[in-house]
Amino acid sequence: MSPAAEPRQALVIGAGLSGSAVAYSLAVRGWSVTVLDRAAGVGAGASGLPAGLAAPHVSPDDNVLSRITRAGVRATLQRAQALLHSGTDWALTGVLEHNLAGKRRLPSDNLASDSGHDAPLDSPLGMTQQASAAQIAAAGLPPGTPALWHGHAGWVRPRQLTLAQLQTPGVQVRWSQAVHAIERRDQAWTALNAQGHTVAQAPWLVVASAFDSLALLRSLPGFAVPLNPLRGQVSFGHMADLTNAQHQRLPPFPVNGHGSFISGVPTPEGPPGWFIGATFERDCTQAPVRLEDHLANQLRLASLLPALGEAMAGQFGPDRVHGWAGLRCTLPNRLPAVGPIDRLRLPGLCLSAGMGARGISLAVLCGELTAAWMNQEEPPLPAALAKHLAAERYART
Ligand SMILES: Cc1cc2nc3c(=O)[nH]c(=O)nc-3n(C[C@H](O)[C@H](O)[C@H](O)COP(=O)(O)OP(=O)(O)OC[C@H]3O[C@@H](n4cnc5c(N)ncnc54)[C@H](O)[C@@H]3O)c2cc1C
Repeated sequence: MSPAAEPRQALVIGAGLSGSAVAYSLAVRGWSVTVLDRAAGVGAGASGLPAGLAAPHVSPDDNVLSRITRAGVRATLQRAQALLHSGTDWALTGVLEHNLAGKRRLPSDNLASDSGHDAPLDSPLGMTQQASAAQIAAAGLPPGTPALWHGHAGWVRPRQLTLAQLQTPGVQVRWSQAVHAIERRDQAWTALNAQGHTVAQAPWLVVASAFDSLALLRSLPGFAVPLNPLRGQVSFGHMADLTNAQHQRLPPFPVNGHGSFISGVPTPEGPPGWFIGATFERDCTQAPVRLEDHLANQLRLASLLPALGEAMAGQFGPDRVHGWAGLRCTLPNRLPAVGPIDRLRLPGLCLSAGMGARGISLAVLCGELTAAWMNQEEPPLPAALAKHLAAERYART
């Protein structure tokens, strides 16, 4: 099917950040979108993460991942500003990156000078600079600690963004609809349940069900996108349980590097909390919360923010600490697979999956990219970058 062929109706499988972003981007272009999710409500997958960061990747050669995450962070923060409440759902706080391994370098000494303050957001220095002595001190790190300051970055509650995108006029969500198989019949894609009954049908189908996309797509001709699960756990606690001394050590902005620490953000239960994460575990398709992962996150905090880690040691006891775990869906080069899978053999079928550990930074951009392609528009990224996200890069001949 050629892009934008009538009628402009699409089915999206998966109501996480990826599926909701595609649905939003199509709906604002006038499409009628039905989103199916097997869960009873929002945030059943990785997008149920209580809080995470939208922050760019930085590399000395300003590589493809760095350029794409910059475009992605810009798109996400713009969407957050349009749809969410600042301070409760997201905040443009800036993020300090503790450069623990010394690998995170800005493109060149020349570029990394203070002259970057007025640089445009699509250039490396528009978003990131060397952290100042005052920012390093505010984080509670010793003078001279290598660190970067991502000025155009902040925290986002993915569940809130997902919900807001799904509430767009033109988007209909059907919960508790597990799709067991998909097939193309009479010029339309059909989603079938476990009994083989039709759940929904449309000329266009976008699969956005993260790692579970594999089960739906693996038998289709030419499909070879190597999606993998990567379990992760965050540990969190309530601000009200912190002592005055612990409060005083909290950095006034999120800090990332070896994991990330965020504070002052609503917990899933409501009251504001602190969050440290996340763990990485390959080849695991279950996501229970584990005590040993709290310990791993405690060690993570100790290396990211040593003084705070020491002060907060008492907060990791099993009676205090809370946890949330989920499955990321990854691809080998850390870039998602987006858009048509094989436009000749699988007309009308698109994918938006493989967001890895950067779904907050990437899913909105990927939704725009998919919708722009389906609507026959120019991509929201230079073609030289967009090609690195194309699901068709994996098409098997
Ligand atoms: C511990 C942890 C920390 C993270 N921290 C960050 C961070 O700080 N910054 C960042 O950018 N990213 C972070 N991420 C990554 C981010 O959360 C994910 O990349 C993002 O949420 C993925 O969204 P998604 O919509 O692709 O997948 P999901 O949110 O998993 O959504 C997939 C949806 O598909 C549905 N589904 C699955 N199979 C079917 C089916 N057969 N039929 C119908 N529905 C189906 C599921 O119910 C689910 O709702 C983190 C992830 C984890 C686990």
